[in-house]
Amino acid sequence: MPIRLLSDKVSSMIAAGEVIERPASVVKELVENALDAGATEISVEIRGGGVEQIRVADNGIGIPQDEVGLAFQRFATSKLSDASDLDAIPTLGFRGEALPSIASVARISVVTRHTGEESGTRLEIDEGRITDEQRHGASQGTVMTVRQLFRNVPARRKFLRTTATETSHIQTLVTRYALAYPEVRFSLNTGNASLQTPGSGSLREAVAAIHSLNVAENMLGIGPDDEDLERPNVSGLVSQPALSRANRGYMSFFVNRRWVQSRMLGYALEQAYHGFLKERRYPMAVVNIALDYDQVDVNVHPSKTEVRFRSGDRVFSAIQHAVRSTLTAHSPVPEIRGAEVGSPAYPYAPSRDSSRHFWPIEPFNAASATPSAVDGNGEIASDALQDTGSETSTDDTGGYTHRQTLPMLRVLGQVQTTYIAAEGPDGMYLIDQHAAHERVMFERIKADAASGEPQSQSLMEPLTIELNPIQQELVETHQQVFANLGLLLEPFGGNVYVIRAVPGILVDQDPAKAFIDMLDEMAQGGDVETWSDRAAYSMACHAAIRAGKVMTHAEMTALTRQLEQCHQPHTCPHGRPTIIHLSGTRLEREFGRR
Ligand code: ADP
Ligand code: MG
Repeated sequence: MPIRLLSDKVSSMIAAGEVIERPASVVKELVENALDAGATEISVEIRGGGVEQIRVADNGIGIPQDEVGLAFQRFATSKLSDASDLDAIPTLGFRGEALPSIASVARISVVTRHTGEESGTRLEIDEGRITDEQRHGASQGTVMTVRQLFRNVPARRKFLRTTATETSHIQTLVTRYALAYPEVRFSLNTGNASLQTPGSGSLREAVAAIHSLNVAENMLGIGPDDEDLERPNVSGLVSQPALSRANRGYMSFFVNRRWVQSRMLGYALEQAYHGFLKERRYPMAVVNIALDYDQVDVNVHPSKTEVRFRSGDRVFSAIQHAVRSTLTAHSPVPEIRGAEVGSPAYPYAPSRDSSRHFWPIEPFNAASATPSAVDGNGEIASDALQDTGSETSTDDTGGYTHRQTLPMLRVLGQVQTTYIAAEGPDGMYLIDQHAAHERVMFERIKADAASGEPQSQSLMEPLTIELNPIQQELVETHQQVFANLGLLLEPFGGNVYVIRAVPGILVDQDPAKAFIDMLDEMAQGGDVETWSDRAAYSMACHAAIRAGKVMTHAEMTALTRQLEQCHQPHTCPHGRPTIIHLSGTRLEREFGRR
């Protein structure tokens, strides 16, 4: 094919690919436009996870009649005029790309009236072309309605997740903006759930509307919220250590009121909590960072959620300082459990670096008992990992196609109150007590659920819990998943639910907390597993004994026997190894006997 210039239509669709990844991206761009237009009220309504329809209405300044059509052309913006403006961008938008991008992959209708004009305009756009434009009576502000998203981009439509997942992305997004702009009244209606913030200007009240009163009351204010102070200025709310969560989804960062995604900021916050939280628990936080506009570059990616700081170190230490000093002031004796005191490992690398192991170790596999499966470097041949040690089982195993086997093990004792040391037919085995118990619980929960008669225990006193919109959406959509697990809950009006019965496995836990954590984990989990698997392994994780618990010899033996009975004993439901093996040969080599 000869080289030629792409038509506007094709090039817009290519550009749209970067800006509009999913329905939540549309909501993001429309909400940002409303905020840039100075709106004090923004209402978002979605249908069908946003694919069917997204409607964003604001009471901002509106678009002048003679500019409405222009707003849908590429690189048309009212927010920048020359290159030097790019050095200091005070608005959320600036690329003039969002509306034309949305228009190229959906149908849009806009009704708008500019503050200085008597009458408004109504414009219809289909696949980037204006199909209708008329005068239209309207109140000041703008209403954008986007329909049939990705109708003309089947490739993109295929990558969309379920309605519930897309809805929850939108909820997360609106929630973030509502936290960044507590002075704006936000409302969100997804068809199933709704959310409304008061727009009073108080961040704590916004948190109460989004999460719950209880959460809002247990958040600590950080930093002086004074715009005139030295920059970077860090302000916001962070949770008391007692209010931790099972994932990072409750940590939000805003740079000059723009929501940003940054591992560096997340790490700074987690570091500040070091010693205050148990391992794998995360704070809830809304952190606002105010910087001079020229100290941060927001023009990094079309989606505008990444930023580059001129001086990242200063931002890092400002966050650490603000959070740490607040935590120390409120909890004079940090509780240190599980985590190692001192400087933690390099932040961005998973701690899988084998050079840090004292012994060269490998995940257990029955194949490693066979010398031929281990190559010269002691690595297990990968085909051996797949085949050996497994036998095909009959189909009464709840969907497991292979049954893996463990050898009979003799328990020797506990190491670091975390691992069980055992002897087997070929050397020594170390079992991770939490991971192993998680596997045992997971398979038990799945078998119970499959039996149709889950072990369920009614609560003497039903528990009430408050759910945020994301959690509520999950509960509404996956009632059956929870019922199958023996978890009975009923709506009680608004965002309040009553837990009437819990799975037998959870009776010793704090069921409300376990359930909230479960919902959070489900909301966050990857896309591969089914919802019921996600729920089951989150429940297993809660019910499983923790690392750090002293176990008796009898308990360790019982757990080892239970692990041997599992269909997939080698890994926990998340895929971490439950057991590693130090073969007799390996021991001989390490001790110089061979
Ligand atoms: P950008 O936000 O980068 O300028 P957009 O494509 O999102 O680009 O919007 C183009 C222009 O349309 C904006 O610069 C603004 O002037 C106008 N506009 C879009 N949405 C609104 C709105 N809700 N209220 C007022 N003006 C708007
Ligand atoms: Mg914009």
